[in-house]
Amino acid sequence: MPTIIFRDDDTSYFTAPERLQAIYGRVWDAGEPVCLAVIPWVYADTRVYWSHGNPQDPGIPPEHCGETRNFAISDNRALCDFLNKKAAAGLVEICLHGYTHTFFEFITHDLSLIRQKLEQGVDLLRRAFPAADIKTFIPPYDRISPVALEELIAAGFHISTMSHNLSALPALPQIAGFDAGRINQRQMLYVCDDYLFTYQRDPAESLRLARGSLATKDLTIVCNHYWMFYHPWRSQPNAADIAAWHSLLDAILGADDCEIASFAGYAARDLP
Ligand SMILES: [Zn+2]
Repeated sequence: MPTIIFRDDDTSYFTAPERLQAIYGRVWDAGEPVCLAVIPWVYADTRVYWSHGNPQDPGIPPEHCGETRNFAISDNRALCDFLNKKAAAGLVEICLHGYTHTFFEFITHDLSLIRQKLEQGVDLLRRAFPAADIKTFIPPYDRISPVALEELIAAGFHISTMSHNLSALPALPQIAGFDAGRINQRQMLYVCDDYLFTYQRDPAESLRLARGSLATKDLTIVCNHYWMFYHPWRSQPNAADIAAWHSLLDAILGADDCEIASFAGYAARDLP
């Protein structure tokens, strides 16, 4: 049966729970999970170095954008309370999304630095979300070094990233598009090569691509950035984006021939 995994990136200190609720409330009402890539200690002066002019990360709200300091997820109590209830009910998987989410954070080959960031990141998430089990890592900007990948595997994480990171480690499943492959008996690699809904793409085209993937693939990872629906930090979601999103949810939640899973839940299938 085809499987859908909902992944949403960049939940941080700056995330209002109402914004997640507006996008995923229908999924949660249906009793299904959403995987959230959560930044433990977000740095507010993060630049996007693959974009012309190195702009500020669009996931930082304007009132804090450019501040040379970090913000701990645990200091957003309303968000932590909201997500702990969801985690306790099995409705969210809290995934580690870097530590500070700076652009080059995980392309380093400094093993001790990588270990330090992983340990501190997991520690902060555990304190913020005691109801959650942190099992999956999602690299910031899908940029990660082979040394960091090897350390994630040694530390027992499932990994979700883009396929361009895999060729440096031939022992990993060399998969592409939307796909999953086993790293070993306990750990899974999830490849997600396209963010279906982005603010640079016509929402109608996003919907067409998402529906096409659902119709033809065994696994589709629907990866959003919640802030995209509000880009650039509007108080209400952009009408065309949220309308296309709800049309996709109509198709997914109304279908009786597909399943919705989390990364950890999918990995636990078929285990002895
Ligand atoms: Zn991110």
